[in-house]
Amino acid sequence: MGKGTQAASVAQELNLTHIASGDLFRQAIEQGSELGLRAKSYIDEGTLVPDSITIGMILKRISAPDCEGGVILDGFPRNLKQAEALDKALAEQARAIDKVVYIKVSEGELLKRLSGRWVCRNCQALYHIVNSPPKVWGKCDKCGGELYQRPDDTPETVKKRLEVYFSQTAPIIDYYTRAGKLLEVDGEGRIDEVSRRIVATLGEGEFVAR
Ligand code: AMP
Repeated sequence: MGKGTQAASVAQELNLTHIASGDLFRQAIEQGSELGLRAKSYIDEGTLVPDSITIGMILKRISAPDCEGGVILDGFPRNLKQAEALDKALAEQARAIDKVVYIKVSEGELLKRLSGRWVCRNCQALYHIVNSPPKVWGKCDKCGGELYQRPDDTPETVKKRLEVYFSQTAPIIDYYTRAGKLLEVDGEGRIDEVSRRIVATLGEGEFVAR
């Protein structure tokens, strides 16, 4: 957790387009689109939206013109099938994943972060009641939008999402380690410290923002 905050700040720093699968789903739900209707029940219960919906949505999004200069994917891939489909689709376009950032935090810290999270309904900016509160309670510092708590941040859904993470998402750590693409970053500490670590680690590798 904290990946959304970090992905947004690192994308800005490195001039990349930030694409978050969860945000795309939440926007589709707000708009009442077909995609949103199909995804909603899975998100509400904390399970993964089926690959048949998710993979197509992301591949379409990364084909848009604003992605030509490079992207940061946030929340995708979430399982091996998605990782393989992504590699295959990128290879067909002579593109590839450069690096994968594994932000490591303890389970206790994960729970703490999730339980205090507030999100802007308008621009999706993230806040935390303890770690990064807004200047005015309930209002977004960036756009003045209304802050809300995600319905899938309830204790039961959080528990389910952690189970899903360990059983389905954690195996992709191995997949990217074997591909020589994994960069592990300590995710404990202040938001700006973690951002600095991520940018520094990306800089050490052969990462090129493109
Ligand atoms: P996030 O905002 O990344 O925490 O995602 C919120 C929810 O959206 C997840 O709990 C899933 O239900 C769904 N979701 C986001 N990304 C994916 C993905 N790559 N595959 C399947 N479901 C996803």
